[in-house]
Amino acid sequence: MKKVLITAGPTREPIDPVRFLSNRSSGKMGYALAEAAVVAGCEVTLVSGPVCLDPPAGVKLVSVMTASEMYGAVEARIEPMDLVVCCAAVADYTPIRMEEHKLKKKGTDLNLTLMPTKDILGSCREVFGYRKTLVGFAAETQELERYAREKLARKGCDWIAANRVDEEGSGFEVNHNEITLFSADGQVVELPRDTKPQLAENMMRMLIGE
Ligand code: C5P
Repeated sequence: MKKVLITAGPTREPIDPVRFLSNRSSGKMGYALAEAAVVAGCEVTLVSGPVCLDPPAGVKLVSVMTASEMYGAVEARIEPMDLVVCCAAVADYTPIRMEEHKLKKKGTDLNLTLMPTKDILGSCREVFGYRKTLVGFAAETQELERYAREKLARKGCDWIAANRVDEEGSGFEVNHNEITLFSADGQVVELPRDTKPQLAENMMRMLIGE
């Protein structure tokens, strides 16, 4: 039975006890991939940020909140995996510290100092020593192919699933998507506009060769 790890959803970076930085990721694509992998007979670990979705039956759900927690959850579980798909929209920056108390409103500008988070996908090869199939996502608003290929090389992936997030009805939050897959060995596979579950099924079939 193939072991698959999928990251999904956004992360939440706390500013103070009641506020956080996050993004518009719904987790739908990652959850659809997890479901498709279960249906294909895989043992699936889903490392998920906060979303409003029920985990697909049969997956091992690991719930996390911050980018740092997601990094730790992946690091701890990646070793035996046959396929890792990083679908999560991980925050790129996090506040340098979480305020202990709720920030008070003042009539002046407020500056937040942010620091970069660690790149989970980008750590899989060089830091975690993972050698099997590695897939990343690229959500772009322009020059899809150039940025996807650059990401493929920089993060050591076998495949990058690229989608335009500025197109009406595709990408973040919505139920549909369209994906172009670029491989490290030069293959290009177009998955035309479809529902996220259908795209996930097609993508999984291709990745695990069922
Ligand atoms: O660099 P960028 O955020 O555009 O790359 C997107 C890909 O990298 C996605 O697969 C995402 O899950 C992954 N990523 C990650 N950890 C980060 C940032 C991005 O795993 N801190």
